[in-house]
Amino acid sequence: MKAAVLTGAREIDIRDVPDPVAPDDGLVLRAKACGVCGSDLRRWNEGPPEGSDGIIPGHEAAGVVLEVGKRITDYSPGDRLAIAPDIHCGRCTYCRKGMYNLCDHLRFIGITPGYPGGFAERVVLTREILTNGIIHPMPRNVSFVEGALAEPCSSVLAAHEKAGTSLSDRVVVLGAGPIGCLHVAVAKSRGAGVIISEPSGSRRELARRFRPDAVIDPSSEDVVARVRELTGGLGADIVICANPLSVTQTEAVEMVRKGGRVILFGGLPKSDAMTSLDANRIHYGEIEVVGSFSYAPTTHELALELLSRNVISSDLLITHTFPLEQIGEAFETAAAGKGLKVMVTMSEEDS
Ligand SMILES: [Zn+2]
Ligand SMILES: [Zn+2]
Repeated sequence: MKAAVLTGAREIDIRDVPDPVAPDDGLVLRAKACGVCGSDLRRWNEGPPEGSDGIIPGHEAAGVVLEVGKRITDYSPGDRLAIAPDIHCGRCTYCRKGMYNLCDHLRFIGITPGYPGGFAERVVLTREILTNGIIHPMPRNVSFVEGALAEPCSSVLAAHEKAGTSLSDRVVVLGAGPIGCLHVAVAKSRGAGVIISEPSGSRRELARRFRPDAVIDPSSEDVVARVRELTGGLGADIVICANPLSVTQTEAVEMVRKGGRVILFGGLPKSDAMTSLDANRIHYGEIEVVGSFSYAPTTHELALELLSRNVISSDLLITHTFPLEQIGEAFETAAAGKGLKVMVTMSEEDS
């Protein structure tokens, strides 16, 4: 089969690799679509982890079951499945509490060496993945690119569950990449008023597709003052940091109202993970600063349903689709911040 292999920093090429075989208690999925995510771009910039001579990335995948092992009874060839990366251990304290996204031994499809990902014509789902991973059948009217999109949607849905976003809230989203735009869509679907801030002019324009109530250009306006103005002097009820910049986390605490919530959604670069927040504003204003990472398996199922009901519209979000053969171009496009979501599709046909 053909697979995209990351062999060095910004070096990803298509290779012929042996066709995977279904283990007795696993299956082979014919991958059809896989999204390019911010974390893929970070890994692409850095190259494969030390000690590994190449990995097949891709963790926002969807496809159709090609072959099942002889002990598999719960899946059949032809099943359409969406897969998310997290594989929990099932045994640690967090798993036993049902907090699977915080598992001490999380492994990730397309990220952890030994777990090849979705930028390939075929992906093996072992018993470990089928049991402790996140895999759901796709509703009939959900396409493969939408199935892949369920993964980033799930993280965003989980953040709004945590924030408790509702009708009376005014939400500020900092960053209008694909994730920021998903935050706008989900906050609006929960009835909130939404303000988005983004320095790139082209991304501000794309963000307007999601009908935010106000759009701020932080490169020419004082974003904190503007949010206060738009909220009658009060500040926002909820601020979501949907970019990898620590300065916006500092600003988030400045623009949230007393008793409000700041959600740290985007991770910061490993080499620069310290941030500076006004502790007195947090203390005297009883501001909650909350981390949000990944999601419960059931949230992935909900994301598929919301895509099926068109609560989240993939057409607005997916601006580029490349065939697997053009994976390099797909990564370059996503890294350049052109458009919003970049998808890669695989076209291997039944033989
Ligand atoms: Zn991702
Ligand atoms: Zn665990």
